[in-house]
Amino acid sequence: MSVPVAATGTVGGALRIATARLAACSDSPRLDAELLLEAVLERPRSALYAHPEAILAPALAARFGALLTRRAAGEPIAYLLGRIGFWTLTLTVTPAVLVPRPETELLIEQALARLPDGRARVADLGTGSGAIALALASERPGWQILGTDLSAAALALARHNADALELGRVAWLRTRWCAGLASDGFDLIVSNPPYIAADDPHLAALTHEPATALVAGAGGLADLAAIAQQAGRCLRPGGWLLLEHGHTQGAALARLLRDAGWCEISLHRDLGDRGRVSAARRPGTTT
Ligand code: GLN
Repeated sequence: MSVPVAATGTVGGALRIATARLAACSDSPRLDAELLLEAVLERPRSALYAHPEAILAPALAARFGALLTRRAAGEPIAYLLGRIGFWTLTLTVTPAVLVPRPETELLIEQALARLPDGRARVADLGTGSGAIALALASERPGWQILGTDLSAAALALARHNADALELGRVAWLRTRWCAGLASDGFDLIVSNPPYIAADDPHLAALTHEPATALVAGAGGLADLAAIAQQAGRCLRPGGWLLLEHGHTQGAALARLLRDAGWCEISLHRDLGDRGRVSAARRPGTTT
């Protein structure tokens, strides 16, 4: 499968063939091809444009071809490159964690809009690569942030990212949702839990990512419901809960939150005008 790339000889030719080959599996075939070739050549992408006539050595063409084969089989570009941009950060990612999505930046915006800088205690439940916890830490030096996950591999990666970004003050805890959290201490709890139903056809395109980070029981609502049940205990009165969810789950989640005693429940829309983040507040005196 990598032969056609090697046979083209030049950087420009390899990119054209690679782009055509990725068109069926990627929304951004040209960009994917450029990013993979940049990684193989260990040169900036601008060099691909400056010297399209450069000859691609056979060994490099073979490496590029191998990456294209994996990309064409559906592996996320982030796993192939070992990194992804999220918010203003570059994060290391591995198949042990979900690839952070741009939609999740809506959760960051909502969190930042609710609490100014200053002292605050914040938890990110199911942190994966640490994306949410670290984006918040980068914006709010005064916050004391805890990232949790059930997966030891995810926490190791989150710690690695924190060290690489010099955000070592974020704390990490291995636990399931709120099980290991102290009562009443937090001002804000955020989470992007698994929320895809086990029979959702959308999952066919996500087989390279950990199912534990994607799939939830009860038609995708089980983990959202667990957090709605547990998180109130860990927030101070007036504290906020922010949850990412699927765009069809807003009404069902609002009911779950209401039944669990939350107030000021609101739904927030992504750039595609789909409700993807719900906010709720623990009743009681605000400070
Ligand atoms: N946003 C992801 C997707 O639909 C799912 C993330 C999640 O389950 N938390 O591809």
